[in-house]
Amino acid sequence: MKSPRRRLGFETLAIHSGQEPESATGAVVVPIFQTSTFAQEAVGKNKGYEYARTGNPTRAALETCLADLEGGRWGLAFASGMAASDAVAHLLTRGDHVVMGDDVYGGTYRLFARVFDRAGITLTAVDMRRPAAVTRAMRRNTRLVWIETPSNPLLKVLDLSALAEIAHRGKALAIADNTFASPYLQQPLRLGVDLVLHSTTKYLGGHSDVIGGALAGTDAALRDRLSFIQNAAGGVPGPLDAWLVLRGAKTLAVRMERHSANALAIAEWLTEHPKVTSVNYPGLQSHPQHELAKRQMRAFGGMLSFELRGGEAAAKRMAARTEIFALAESLGGVESLIEVPLSMTHGSVRGTKLAPPAGLVRLSIGIETVDDLIADLAQAIG
Ligand SMILES: *Cc1c(COP(=O)(O)O)cnc(C)c1O
Repeated sequence: MKSPRRRLGFETLAIHSGQEPESATGAVVVPIFQTSTFAQEAVGKNKGYEYARTGNPTRAALETCLADLEGGRWGLAFASGMAASDAVAHLLTRGDHVVMGDDVYGGTYRLFARVFDRAGITLTAVDMRRPAAVTRAMRRNTRLVWIETPSNPLLKVLDLSALAEIAHRGKALAIADNTFASPYLQQPLRLGVDLVLHSTTKYLGGHSDVIGGALAGTDAALRDRLSFIQNAAGGVPGPLDAWLVLRGAKTLAVRMERHSANALAIAEWLTEHPKVTSVNYPGLQSHPQHELAKRQMRAFGGMLSFELRGGEAAAKRMAARTEIFALAESLGGVESLIEVPLSMTHGSVRGTKLAPPAGLVRLSIGIETVDDLIADLAQAIG
């Protein structure tokens, strides 16, 4: 891609950013540089790469692309979403405090509550739908405000600009886990957030065939600290994994459009079903933060959850009976998945106030023919 004369659109960036034809051969697709080290012409004289933990051209292409997709100045790729979260946690030191949404990804909560607690870092979890509660939770030593929207599994939507402002008033960094929305639907950096985190395992990869994570941001000093941690702690993705995410990202826009259209149709269908007592989807007018979701998201994504009459037994029975929807954890792939949060993804919070409702079923809506998906759900609900 020659230097563009005008600002490029999301789809163009997804396909071309960081992905010029390769200089030695002209290969149109970025090669998988499956090498651990790079030959140097003389000591200290090299082509920008020395050792592949520090830098690899396949990973560098992905990092450039991710930065552009989020509207940031830099991106860093990691071996998993949790490796990216771990790098962020390493920004903190003994005595620091974190304010976190009370329904963030369970692994995020576990990382701070059960790993970094031993490093003397404390944590307050709050319902971030109420900005006043976040303001109250801020302390003098709060360094980080961890936002995740839409949330899992209840699809709560949080006000990114209001929360970033509260963080900044307290001289803390605001980070948004943008995994559920993907940069196509929502760009937190443009709303004042300092750092965006992804499990690229989900929508960015998009094909349920890779584990990966990423960070993106605008501030150069923050990039330097995080890239130092990335190299020092070593949670980097291999070149094949970086390549798979880079390939997934090329089709992110068209996939998210179809995920969103299918999910909206299914959410509307579920709303009418006599055995369904409630449906959580930000695209429904009945969603409590529908107006906010419309303001900060381009469409409403592929994740939804609903409650079945008959509680956990009914939810488990339905999940075992679908034929197209695979019964599985994870999300964001082209294929549809069904799960029961209380018994699966959220089993560790059973019996606490963070436990999801017993009859809750979560769907990751894929990009199959929507009539087939609805027919499958209909026969499984019975
Ligand atoms: C899956 C997920 C993570 C963790 O990512 P891994 O790639 O599994 O390490 C973090 N946040 C959210 C919202 C997720 O869905």
